[in-house]
Amino acid sequence: MRSSFRMPAAALIAALLAGGCAARPGIVREPPPAPPAQPAHHAHYAEAVIGFSAEGRPIRAHVFGRSGPAVIILGSIHGSEPAGAMLCDELVGQLRRAMPADRRVVVVPEANPDGLALRRRANARGVDLNRNFPAANFRPTAGGGPEPLSEPESRALYYLILAERPALVVTIHQPLAVVDYDGPAEELSHRLAAASGLPARRLGPRPGSLGSWVGEDLRIPIITLELPRSAQRAGGPAMWAAYGPAMLDALGWAEAAAK
Ligand SMILES: [Zn+2]
Repeated sequence: MRSSFRMPAAALIAALLAGGCAARPGIVREPPPAPPAQPAHHAHYAEAVIGFSAEGRPIRAHVFGRSGPAVIILGSIHGSEPAGAMLCDELVGQLRRAMPADRRVVVVPEANPDGLALRRRANARGVDLNRNFPAANFRPTAGGGPEPLSEPESRALYYLILAERPALVVTIHQPLAVVDYDGPAEELSHRLAAASGLPARRLGPRPGSLGSWVGEDLRIPIITLELPRSAQRAGGPAMWAAYGPAMLDALGWAEAAAK
């Protein structure tokens, strides 16, 4: 981790995610503002910017609920895999219509906004963000960055995950058409395979990947939902019909597992 690591980003996230997110020493440096008043019959919803890409694009998070077991859902950490962002957008629409008040979900549809804009796997600086996390198996390579968290996008996701300490992370990729997992999520991977029609298959940890850091090092269950290559061509509603049940099943599983 480089010495220029900047904590104001953590304070920014803490402030933006104020609510059910527990303050943790070393992560939260400023007291979060009081959350805005919400009608009692509505679950809390807020849009937050958790960081900016190398080219200055905002990385947006949709935050539902103040408390309960947090589930983090990430789309398109590889910019050449647009189906994740589309499926996340569908999920946000669904949760805005009907979100149980007693749980917390954070959805980041575009984890790599520069890559999506440029239609490339890596970020604008040519680094594969999914090889740039501070996992024990990180290796400095041209593709994965010179050191862990060398990229602003991976730093934003890192602070989000540390601030939330989620019960589950789901990250959506293409094109392998399987349900993969890291950490204690084998049983869940089989459930989601049944709900999505995709086979469960363990791909194995990749150096410096989000799965390696979250699943193997932090021991937080993480599902890598690998959609088919052309999943986005069907459009958002058809994608939701195909994979929405698996997404909702994952949210329910995290809630049950936390009890
Ligand atoms: Zn990918």
